[in-house]
Amino acid sequence: MPARIIDGKIIASELRARVAGEVTRVRREHGLTPGLAVVLVGSDPASQVYVRSKHKQTEAAGMASFQYVLPEDVAQDDLLALIAKLNRDPAVHGILVQLPLPKSLHTETVINAIDPAKDVDGLHPHNAGRLAGGSAALSPCTPLGCIILTKSVHASLEGMNAIVIGRSNLVGRPLLQLLLNENATVTSAHSRSRELAKLCARADLVYAAVGRPEMVRGDWIKPGATVIDVGINRQPSADGKTKLVGDVAFTEVSDVAGAITPVPGGVGQMTVACLLVNTLRAACAIHGLPKPAV
Ligand code: NDP
Repeated sequence: MPARIIDGKIIASELRARVAGEVTRVRREHGLTPGLAVVLVGSDPASQVYVRSKHKQTEAAGMASFQYVLPEDVAQDDLLALIAKLNRDPAVHGILVQLPLPKSLHTETVINAIDPAKDVDGLHPHNAGRLAGGSAALSPCTPLGCIILTKSVHASLEGMNAIVIGRSNLVGRPLLQLLLNENATVTSAHSRSRELAKLCARADLVYAAVGRPEMVRGDWIKPGATVIDVGINRQPSADGKTKLVGDVAFTEVSDVAGAITPVPGGVGQMTVACLLVNTLRAACAIHGLPKPAV
């Protein structure tokens, strides 16, 4: 039987609706409008698309959206001054600097300048450290989305064998921590791992966050496993244009897996929805309100 398709589009739209409901409640009960500031440096077309989508979805959820577009050659001090201003701005509860930054800027310095309470991308060492220590933290959006998608299939991940292929600060590492917090048994695989296929074959949950088109094959997968494909790779298509493919060989793997996310229409949909969740949570925490019901 082919795998059940985990529909990120539907799950993300339900999540956005729940966020919008909570935003309405928080405004009504506390007079608080959560605000998200997104900073884009340069004119990378993919980043422009992401920033536009974040702006639209932030406004659709009833939050305030602030956008700052800086030239490619902006001085690092000017970018840091903008972040300092946003850190002080009471209307801003979430700050996201769109990555990747131009090479002239030092990404770590820029991320470290964001107030950890407003770090809705969850990349500041304060939040990464808290997550690693098992404490409540603002967690990176894509891994958060992966957990929500997995829980649409399994109510509890306790005791399940999970493998995360990829160990970037943005996806793989925080995902490992989130899975540990869910009491899964976790294997971390990366470019130096040996016998990846054998490691995968033991896993009930497979997460591919590598950036290599269709690397994970059908014969790596334990029958019935849940497969979450984070990869977004552009490939030439037959009509001369480009198409998006994941890190998982979708057709092959869906013949074996129990459930699988498509690309597009899977994890990618969840990332912005989780950014809205983080902004709402940050706004409530900054104002000393109870954690919202989302
Ligand atoms: P990085 O390039 O930062 O990290 C890739 C990871 O994959 C590294 O840890 C690397 O290992 C590992 N890797 C590389 N080659 C292999 C291999 N042959 N076998 C096993 N592991 C390998 O990528 P990101 O984590 O930023 O992104 C991963 C993918 O997810 C990309 O396709 C990206 O576009 C996509 N993505 C999707 C998002 C979404 O919203 N859906 C958001 C963010 C990313 P090592 O550490 O040893 O070098």
